[in-house]
Amino acid sequence: MGKALIIGAGGVASVAIHKCCQNPDVFEEICIASRTVEKCEAIKKKLTGSRTIIHTAQLDADNTDMVIDLIKSFRPDIVINLALPYQDLTIMDACLATGVDYLDTANYEPPEIAKFEYKWQWAYREKFAQAGLTALLGSGFDPGVTGVFCAYAQKHYFDEIYSIDIVDANAGDHGYPFATNFNPEINIREITANGRYYENGAWIETEPLAWKKVYDLPEIGPKNIYLMYHEELESLALHIKGIKRIRFWMTFSDNYLNHLRVLENIGMTSIEPIDFEGQQIIPLHFLKAVLPDPASLGPRTKGKTNIGCIMQGIKDGKPKTYYVYNICDHQECYAEVGSQAISYTTGVPAMIGAMLMLKGVWKKPGVFNVEEFDPDPFMEALTECGLPWQESFSPTLLD
Ligand code: NDP
Repeated sequence: MGKALIIGAGGVASVAIHKCCQNPDVFEEICIASRTVEKCEAIKKKLTGSRTIIHTAQLDADNTDMVIDLIKSFRPDIVINLALPYQDLTIMDACLATGVDYLDTANYEPPEIAKFEYKWQWAYREKFAQAGLTALLGSGFDPGVTGVFCAYAQKHYFDEIYSIDIVDANAGDHGYPFATNFNPEINIREITANGRYYENGAWIETEPLAWKKVYDLPEIGPKNIYLMYHEELESLALHIKGIKRIRFWMTFSDNYLNHLRVLENIGMTSIEPIDFEGQQIIPLHFLKAVLPDPASLGPRTKGKTNIGCIMQGIKDGKPKTYYVYNICDHQECYAEVGSQAISYTTGVPAMIGAMLMLKGVWKKPGVFNVEEFDPDPFMEALTECGLPWQESFSPTLLD
C-alpha cells in the first residue's frame, strides 16, 4: 500500500517499526532514519526476514534541507516523526516542501524552555490545508489514545462530557534505583514543570506535583497519583463538547520522587547551560547521559501499566459516568517486540495512526489532533494490534 519514512531509532521508534513490519501489506517499504545510523541498522537486523522492505539512513532532523533531500530520494507517502519534540517543526517544514503527510507523538518544544503547547504546530494549519496534506499530532498513548478514548465516549455515550480525568499509571519495576521510562530529558522536563488543569474556561496552575490522591486502578491496585499538566489537555479542552473540567494524573513511587527531588535540589534537572571545564553544558543533558537508556529497560521491567480516562457527563438528560482504559504488561511487550510497555503503548498508536492515514481512513487537509477524527477505526485497530481496551460504566470518580 505505501512507503513510510520513520525518523528516530529510540524506544518508541523500535516498537512502531516492529508493528509496521507486522502489517507489511500497509507498510510495504520503510526507511528508518536517525542521528545515529547504527541504531537504525540494529533495528533492521532484528527484523531480518520481514516482508516489509527496510532501508536505513543517517539523518540530522534539525536540518530541514537534509530531511528534504532524504524525502526526495526515498519518496515516502508519510513521514512518521519519532525523534524528539525539538525536531517537529523542521520535519513539518520538510513535509510541506515535498508534499508528504506528517505524524508525530509529542508537541513541538523549543529546546531552551519547557512549554508543552501546540501553538507552534497549530500555526501550520493553513499551510497544510492549502497543500492538501494531513498532519496528525500526538498519535502516541497520552497524547494519542487518551484523545481517541474521549472522542469515542463523546460519539457513543454522551451528549456532553463535563469532566475528564486522565489517569496514567505505571506499576512496572525495572530494578534500578532511578531511571525514566522514555527519553529522560523530555520526561523530567514534563514532571518538574508546574501542574495545570482546566476548569470552567480557565487554566489553574499548581506547584509541580503538589496535588496527590490515591486511586484504586483495575489490575494494579491503589496507587498515589499526582496532578500534572499534559499536552492533550490543551486540545481536548477545545475539542470536547461541554467540557467543564479536565485534569491529568500520573503515578510515581516515593522512591522515584525522592531521587527526583535530590536531582532538582542540586541543579541536575536544569535546562540552563552552565560553564564546565571550558565548555557550556546543560545539566539535564548530562544527567540523561548518565541515566540508563530507556531502551535498555525492556528485559528488566516487570508489572503492568494502566492508562485511561474517567468521564462524567450527561446522556438523554441523565447523568452518566464512563471509564475506558488499557492495561499493558511490560514482559508481554518485551516478549513480542523487545521493548517495555511505555515504548509499546506509544509505538503501537503511532503505527495505527500512520496505517489509517495510508489507508485514507484518517485523511483530510490540515493539522489535526487525534480526537478530531472518527475514533471507531482507531479503537478497532487498538484491539487488533495489541492494545485492547476495557470499559466500566460505574467507575470510582475523583473528587
Ligand atoms: P529516545 O530518546 O529513545 O529516541 C529518540 C530518537 O530520536 C533517538 O534515536 C535519537 O537519536 C533520535 N534523534 C534525536 N535527535 C535527532 C535529530 N536531530 N535527528 C535525527 N534523529 C534524532 O526517545 P523515545 O523513543 O522514548 O521517544 C520518542 C518520542 O516519543 C519523543 O518525542 C517522546 O516525547 C515521545 N513520546 C510520546 C509519548 C506519548 O504517549 N505520546 C510517550 C513517550 C514518548 P540518537 O540515538 O542519536 O540519540
